[in-house]
Amino acid sequence: MATSDLPRDAARPRSTDRCAACGDPLPGSYYTLGGRPERYCPHCIATRPRCASCGAPVGDQHWRLHDGRVQCASCHATAVYEPDLARALFDETVAGVVAQLGLTLNVGVAFRLVDAPTLEGLRAEGGAPPPAGQNTLGLYQRRGHLRTIYMLYGLPRLTFRITVAHEYAHAWQGERCPLLRDDELREGFAEWVAYHHLRWLGCTRAAERMLTTDHPYRQALGRLIGLERQLGLPGVMTYLTRAE
Ligand SMILES: [Zn+2]
Ligand SMILES: [Zn+2]
Ligand SMILES: [Zn+2]
Repeated sequence: MATSDLPRDAARPRSTDRCAACGDPLPGSYYTLGGRPERYCPHCIATRPRCASCGAPVGDQHWRLHDGRVQCASCHATAVYEPDLARALFDETVAGVVAQLGLTLNVGVAFRLVDAPTLEGLRAEGGAPPPAGQNTLGLYQRRGHLRTIYMLYGLPRLTFRITVAHEYAHAWQGERCPLLRDDELREGFAEWVAYHHLRWLGCTRAAERMLTTDHPYRQALGRLIGLERQLGLPGVMTYLTRAE
């Protein structure tokens, strides 16, 4: 997911404010990431390893996954490591997207939980690299008759769910508008499905962050929100199936 290091030296921190990584009192200028409330001192931003999931400098307590990723304590707390749990969350997410938006599949899609090198290898076979500065968190792939959503293991639960929703939208596009070439429309729609899934889960603040935080697909998501205002929810799906 997107992260951005924004210096916020305009706001003077209160004396009680401490760096979320080292716990020291914050100096006059500090950093926040991606619109989240945690604040970090410049030293931690410059020197600490970053969490592979959220991009934040990790605290003294952190985890190293077998594929080399470093995970911060707060991402670790909800991380999806077990295939059985992943499968259950995948099914719940798909059921939610179907209930909310009616995106059903005729053929369906298989699910696999994989590590970072495996996902990267699969992505490289498929061609296009992810947008600059982004890690691949999930992937929809069709090989012959086999359709599969691959998900990175160890993602925080909410990231896992929005990534599943995004990739499931691509699976739906594979059936309903396989010839759609407009990349902004394809990715914007997948982000829009993830955005609505967050709202469906009641995570309205996280959904709002998708609209305001710098991210390669933010503009594409904005285009879809505009379409929704014009056409309504079902109208967006109809629009997609008729677009090129
Ligand atoms: Zn610090
Ligand atoms: Zn993290
Ligand atoms: Zn996508």
